[in-house]
Amino acid sequence: MSEASQQQEENSSKNRPICHSCGLDMDERILKIRYPKGTLPVRGFVCSKCGYEIISFEDAKAASETAERLGLLEPEGAITRKITRSGDQLAVSIPKDIEREFDLKQGAKVRIYTKHDEIILAPV
Ligand SMILES: [Zn+2]
Repeated sequence: MSEASQQQEENSSKNRPICHSCGLDMDERILKIRYPKGTLPVRGFVCSKCGYEIISFEDAKAASETAERLGLLEPEGAITRKITRSGDQLAVSIPKDIEREFDLKQGAKVRIYTKHDEIILAPV
């Protein structure tokens, strides 16, 4: 009986990809894609022999769109800075690259606001 059910399982999975190294059918699995700010589950395939994992282009594209919507992607060129204190207020210094890129000058105004779990600084 287990043989029959195993055969049925094999027949129903005709779209399974084949591992390029081993030439074996790959098993469908829920894989986790890691993004800078979290992970997302995504349908993929794993080779039971060598452990090679693949995710279809469509599934990977859908996952990265979800990651972007959820804010899991690190903004390009993001820089980590330490919060300092200026008087009784907290302060963050602006990196030189950004100062040059936006031609920022002392006394210029910026707008500060929050979006989801981020603090955004926009030149006015
Ligand atoms: Zn393999």
